[in-house]
Amino acid sequence: MPRFRQTKEILELMDRKERIRNIGVIAHIDHGKTTMTDSLLVEAGLLPSQVAGSARALDYLEEEQKRGITIKTANISLLHQSDGASYVINVVDTPGHVDFSGKVARALRAIDGAIVVVDAVEEVMAQTETVTRQALEERVKPILFINKVDRLMTEMKLTPTEIQAKFLRIIDDFDNLIEVYGEPDFKEKWKVDPAKESVVFGSALHKWGFTLNVANKKGIKFSDHDIADAYRKGRPQTLSRLIPLHTAILDVVVKNVPSPVESQNYRIPKIWKGDIGSEIGQAMLNCDDKGPTTMCITNAQVTSDTDVVATGRLFSGSIRDNDEVYLLDAGRDYRVEQVSMYMGAFREPTNRIGAGNIAALTGLDSARAGETLVDNADRKTMVPFERVKYISEPVMTVAVEPRRLTDLPRLTEAMNRLSIEDPNLVTTIDKETGQYLISGMGVLHLEIAVKFLRQYTEGMEITASNPVAAYRESILKQGAVVMTKSPNKNNRFWIQAEPLENKVLEAMESRDFGSEVERKQSIAGSCKEAENVWAFEKNKNTLINTSQKAKCLREVKDSIITGFQWACRNGPLCGEPLRGVKVKLMDAQIHEDQTQRKPRQVVRAVSRAILGSCLTANPALLECIYRIEVSAPTQWFGTCANMITRRRGKIRATNQKGASTVITGYIPVAETLNLSAEMRSATSGHAFWQFTFDHWEKIPEKLAAEATRRLRQRKGLPMDIPGPKMFVDEVC
Ligand code: GDP
Repeated sequence: MPRFRQTKEILELMDRKERIRNIGVIAHIDHGKTTMTDSLLVEAGLLPSQVAGSARALDYLEEEQKRGITIKTANISLLHQSDGASYVINVVDTPGHVDFSGKVARALRAIDGAIVVVDAVEEVMAQTETVTRQALEERVKPILFINKVDRLMTEMKLTPTEIQAKFLRIIDDFDNLIEVYGEPDFKEKWKVDPAKESVVFGSALHKWGFTLNVANKKGIKFSDHDIADAYRKGRPQTLSRLIPLHTAILDVVVKNVPSPVESQNYRIPKIWKGDIGSEIGQAMLNCDDKGPTTMCITNAQVTSDTDVVATGRLFSGSIRDNDEVYLLDAGRDYRVEQVSMYMGAFREPTNRIGAGNIAALTGLDSARAGETLVDNADRKTMVPFERVKYISEPVMTVAVEPRRLTDLPRLTEAMNRLSIEDPNLVTTIDKETGQYLISGMGVLHLEIAVKFLRQYTEGMEITASNPVAAYRESILKQGAVVMTKSPNKNNRFWIQAEPLENKVLEAMESRDFGSEVERKQSIAGSCKEAENVWAFEKNKNTLINTSQKAKCLREVKDSIITGFQWACRNGPLCGEPLRGVKVKLMDAQIHEDQTQRKPRQVVRAVSRAILGSCLTANPALLECIYRIEVSAPTQWFGTCANMITRRRGKIRATNQKGASTVITGYIPVAETLNLSAEMRSATSGHAFWQFTFDHWEKIPEKLAAEATRRLRQRKGLPMDIPGPKMFVDEVC
C-alpha cells in the first residue's frame, strides 16, 4: 500500500475542527463529477496531473472503469492551502446514475457541503434536481460548478454574451431548486451567487476553472485574448496553469462550506431526535472531541477476505484502535480493530480519528449503513440517528440461479454480501420455492448487481432472468371483520383490514416523516394512542391494536407482529407485497397455557386473517410508475414522444433547452424493460433519458386480470384467486 506524502499534516489538521471541510460531489450522470474529482486528486499527489480526466482514480472498481460510471463511493482526504492557512478536505465521491441514488443519500449524511456539477451544455437536469433536493433535505449546503464550458466555445460556438446568458440561466434554475426544496431558515443564505464566490465556471476535462473573484483579479474574460483564444489556438493547457480547477474548487469549498463545528450545530437537530440538552446532544452539537463517541455509519463494504469496513461520520468524541464500542441496531458491542482514513482505493491507518471527520473502521462485522455507533457506556441512553431516506424503491427484480446446485451456499453468501454493501438491493432467498431474487432500482442497478455476484463468487456460472417489474397489492375499501383460528384451534383472532388514510400514507412517504415516536403518533391518528400502533413496515402498512380486553395479548405481541409482516410480504392476489393497508386487531382469544399459543400458531392465524379480510376489501394490483425525462435534439422529439405514449406513458411537459427538447412525463415501469435499447437505436444514440421512481398506481382494469395471471403463474400459484373463506373461519 502506498503511503501518501501529506498524511502526517492531514492527521494533525483533523484535530483542528475549524480547518476541516467534509464535502461530496454530486451530479446528473455524465456531467463530469468524476473528471472533476480527479483534478482534486492531482492536488493530493494521488494522480499525476497528465492523467487526471482520463484515469478516473476514484472509480476504482474495474466495473466502474469499464463502464465509465461511478457505482460505489470512494473517499479521500486532501490537504489544501487557502489564504495562507492549511485545511483538510474530506471528499466523498458519489455515483451519478439515478439507479444508485441510495448511495448518494447515505453519503450525504457524512458531509456538510456538496459541489453540484452541472454540464453547461445540458444545464440543470432531472438528476441535478434529485441530488440537490437530497442534499438540502440533509441540510447539506450546495455549491455550484458549471462544467464543460469548453463545449460552449468549441461545439456550440457561443459568443461571450451568449455564454453569459447561459450561465445566468443555469444559476437561476439552480437557485430555483434551492427556493423550492430548501428550508425557510436556509434557502436565502444558501442560494448560489457568483458575487458570493459560490459558483465555479470551468472545464474538468481541461482542468481549469475560476470564480468571479479570480477572474476579476487575474483580468480573465471570455474574450478573444483569454479563454476563447486558448481554445482557438488549441492550447487549453495554458488555462490549467493560469487558473487551475482544483484551486478554484477547493478555495470555494473553504469559503462556503461550514466547518463541522459550525454545521453540526444545525445539522444534528435534523438528523438526530434525542435530547439536544443531554451530554451526548451537546457533544454532537459542538463537535466535541472530548465528549462521548457517536458515529453514524454511512457505508459498509466487504473486503475480499470477508471483513467488513464501516465508514462513517464521527459527530463527537474520538475513536481509536481497540476501542470498545456498541452498535445500536446490531445490539451488540465490538472492539474496533483498526481506524483509518480513505485515500481513494486505499485506506491509511491512523490509529485515532477525532470528531467532525470521516473514518473507516474494521472489526465491526454487523455494521451496516445507517447504524449508530456509541461508547459502550451509552448503549442504553443513545437515541439512534434518523434513518437515511431514499427517493426510490426497488421496482425491478431478477431471479438468479447457479448452474450447479452444489453452488447454492456460495450464491447465498454472495447475495448476503450484496445486501450488506447496498441496502437498496433487496435480496430474497426463499428456500421453500427455491427462488433467489434480487430487487433493485432499475435495469442498470440489477445488471451491476449480477456482475458483482459473479465477481464475488469468482466466476461461478449464474443464470439471471430478464428483469421484471415489481407490483404491489392494496385494497380499495374497508374489509369485513374476520375471525381465524390457529391451526390447533385454541386461539382466535378478529381482524379488519382497511385502506390507510391518504394523509397518513402521504406523511409516511414524505421524507420528513419525523422520528419513530412522531411517526407512531401520526399513524395513530384515528386510534388516539401512539402505543397502539404496534408496527409499520416499509411498504406503508400498519398494524394497530384496537382490542381493549383480550387477555395474554402482550405475551403473543411479537408473534402477531411477525404474522402481520408475513402477510405484508405476500398479498392474497398474487403474492406481491401489500401496500397502504391498515390492519386492525379487533379482538383475540388467547389460550392461557403457553404451550398452546406457540409463535407458529399465532403467526399463521394472524397472517391468514389479514389476507382474508383484504380479500373482502376490493383488493387491487398496483403497478409502479417512473417519472421519465428524455433529452434529445429537437429533430428526434416526435420519435421519443411516440415511444413514450405507445407504452402507456403520459407526457407532462416539453421544454426547449438549447438545441435539445426535454420531455418529462410518467411511464409504467413494466413498459420500460427494453425502452433504453429501442430509444438508443431509434435516435442513433442522440437521446439521453432517465427514469426515476415516482409512485404506485392501480393497474388499468383491462390489464389487471392478465397481470395477475402472469404473476401467479410465475410463482407457481394455482390460477384461481382464492376467496376469503380459504383463509378465515368466519366473516363477521
Ligand atoms: P460523471 O458521470 O458525472 O462522473 O461524469 P464523467 O466525469 O465520467 O464525465 C462524463 C463524460 O464527460 C466523460 O466522457 C468526460 O470526459 C466528459 N467531460 C467531463 N468534463 C468535461 C469537460 O469539462 N469538457 C468536456 N468537453 N467533456 C467533459
